[in-house]
Amino acid sequence: MRQSLRPAPRDRRRNPRFKLAHEAEKFFPGRYPATEASSSGGLFMDIVSREVRSRMMAGIRGSDTLPEMKVRKLLHRQGFRYRLHQRNLPGKPDVVLPRYRVCILVHGCFWHRHPGCRYATIPKTREDFWQTKFDQNVKRDTRNRDELLRSGWRVIELWECGIRGPEAGMNWLLETIPDCTHKYVSWPNFSDLLVAS
Ligand SMILES: [Zn+2]
Repeated sequence: MRQSLRPAPRDRRRNPRFKLAHEAEKFFPGRYPATEASSSGGLFMDIVSREVRSRMMAGIRGSDTLPEMKVRKLLHRQGFRYRLHQRNLPGKPDVVLPRYRVCILVHGCFWHRHPGCRYATIPKTREDFWQTKFDQNVKRDTRNRDELLRSGWRVIELWECGIRGPEAGMNWLLETIPDCTHKYVSWPNFSDLLVAS
């Protein structure tokens, strides 16, 4: 991103998208080429190329990823009411159902390292770089999840590969949300590490 195209520092602080831009730079330093649209907007999302934008959506916790929308639609249609990205909770959980004291976390398999999943690959180049990123993500996820559980929230972790399947495959969710015996569920679960109480 060219320096001259950035909004003035004061504006950037006020711009809610700045945080995203800032995070994106951390993940992919210097890899955000400006496009023709850059002179018109000034908002970060407007000045990155489509390719970069899709990587941002995939890699950095955006607020409206497709898998998340699918989950939200399913829940809403079934009468569940929820809050999104509640800031005062650890890790700003994607979907929060206060009535059931349930947090739903929607995770991309690649970035959040879905155990045993075929999508949790490691790129062949810059292996150390990726490994460090992955370790940080997993560590953060674990910390957030534990904090939520400790403060009495139940946690349902949904992985993108499962959400991509037929919607009927997620019907279990509708029963699990009101069922207090499930403190922590990770789905789909390819390992034997499931903790279900
Ligand atoms: Zn997966």
